[in-house]
Amino acid sequence: MRDTYDIIVVGGGPAGTTAARYAAMGGAKVLVLEKDREIGVPVRCGEAVDDEGLSPFLKPDKKFIAAEIRNFKLVAPNGMVVKPNIGGLGYVLDRKVFDYELARIAADQGAEVVTKAYVDGVEKTDGSVTGVHVQYHGERLLLKSKLVIGADGVESRVGRWSGIDTTVSMHDMESAAQVTAANIDVEQDTCYFYFGEKYAPGGYLWVFPKGNRTANIGLAVAADMSKRKHALKFLDEFMQENFPKASVLTKLAGGVPCAETLDKMTMPGLMLVGDAAHQVNPVSGGGIISGMIGGKIAGTVAADIVKRNDMSLLGKYEKEWDDSLGTRHHRYYKIKKVIYKFKDSDLNSIATEISRMPESQQTLGALFKQAVIKHPTLILDVMKLFFS
Ligand SMILES: Cc1cc2nc3c(=O)[nH]c(=O)nc-3n(C[C@H](O)[C@H](O)[C@H](O)COP(=O)(O)OP(=O)(O)OC[C@H]3O[C@@H](n4cnc5c(N)ncnc54)[C@H](O)[C@@H]3O)c2cc1C
Repeated sequence: MRDTYDIIVVGGGPAGTTAARYAAMGGAKVLVLEKDREIGVPVRCGEAVDDEGLSPFLKPDKKFIAAEIRNFKLVAPNGMVVKPNIGGLGYVLDRKVFDYELARIAADQGAEVVTKAYVDGVEKTDGSVTGVHVQYHGERLLLKSKLVIGADGVESRVGRWSGIDTTVSMHDMESAAQVTAANIDVEQDTCYFYFGEKYAPGGYLWVFPKGNRTANIGLAVAADMSKRKHALKFLDEFMQENFPKASVLTKLAGGVPCAETLDKMTMPGLMLVGDAAHQVNPVSGGGIISGMIGGKIAGTVAADIVKRNDMSLLGKYEKEWDDSLGTRHHRYYKIKKVIYKFKDSDLNSIATEISRMPESQQTLGALFKQAVIKHPTLILDVMKLFFS
């Protein structure tokens, strides 16, 4: 490592390595610092993405794709199953290999990637972020840079250290638990979603196949609800009831910030991306692709800032994020608040109505329409969405 870089990225997840890749492509000298010993480990993710989101970044490749998804099955609280027409292709990734591949691509473009490098503070000069403090091989180093990109995930501290309020309310922080289990017989091209109080109040439960009779089985509940009953307890009960013969290969718990994207993602010398900037889709909790989109925009703008030596371009990142996903996420956040009001009886009657339609008309759009029709008081909320 040198003492000085144009751009230092904290965190080697998808958002960080994508930011590094595009910053390096723009000609900047970039360093990625990752605290764990290996990029991509440990995995804290259901690993599902869609082809449309993934393909602009890298060619889907069997080496990091565990299963190809062509169907969804949505299970209502009363057990009724709806199979909407998703009209697209999805993947369950092998994120260990995927994250590694993203880091390799960033390095290929000229970024330096260093693991076992734990950032424990930022350096500030006259109100601007001008570097980071890092613990590396038993030493504490000060590395200087023109820009720091905080891509340090859901538990991000880079923003907070720098002076940006990154707090997520308990209601918007989903508390998630997941196992990767073997000896699971589910259709290998289908993602299953379970809804209702029994499975995951204020969230949903998923079964995502990973090939060879394995699957990621997890759920997310609003963190304030999980105080009453922990996400892991919901998951244990589901596993006992549905997959009593499964072997659990890994078990994890983690948070997903299903909040609005931060109002302020930048300050002089700093950009936040990915989970650190709350760029997760607030309805689905998916943050891989949206973090990569945030990373691409941030990295590209960061290289431009360095090239022109013009910090006033920081706003371009926030503007381009709003144009690509930010405004949509703002709407999704409002939809999430509407969906939160659904009771089991609403979900059951939506499923009944949908299953009466011809299969070709059972789309996700039709499902949402039914949700609105079945819950007349929601019409107003949803109408408001489109005029705000
Ligand atoms: C249970 C669960 C299931 C999920 N399922 C899905 C899904 O199916 N599909 C989907 O799209 N999203 C899913 N998500 C969300 C997704 O995992 C995240 O949105 C995504 O990983 C965000 O990428 P990121 O690069 O912002 O952060 P991360 O992937 O969290 O990467 C941040 C990196 O920063 C490093 N770091 C942190 N602090 C420091 C420090 N001080 N110094 C150096 N390095 C540091 C961390 O070690 C980590 O490697 C799920 C999340 C959970 C918890």
